[in-house]
Amino acid sequence: MAGRKENKKMKKCPVCGGGLQHGQTAAPFFIDEKIIIIKDVPAEVCADCGEAFTKSSVAGQIEDILDKVEILHSEMSVVHFKAA
Ligand SMILES: [Zn+2]
Repeated sequence: MAGRKENKKMKKCPVCGGGLQHGQTAAPFFIDEKIIIIKDVPAEVCADCGEAFTKSSVAGQIEDILDKVEILHSEMSVVHFKAA
């Protein structure tokens, strides 16, 4: 992103203070009566407690995916996150 410098400090887990590593997680979303699970979302995963934190940089892509999935009249959808 232009104009924003990456914070190069090692991020720490807000739950236990452990080190965060790059990884992927499955993120569930509840919209109206529907459940949408997005798999393989880029995330930072705690090496100690396993807690996963979705990266804020993928929020826009998640919204796009949710918009598309919402059209499907399915009560529960499982989709894969695809990096643009
Ligand atoms: Zn942790």
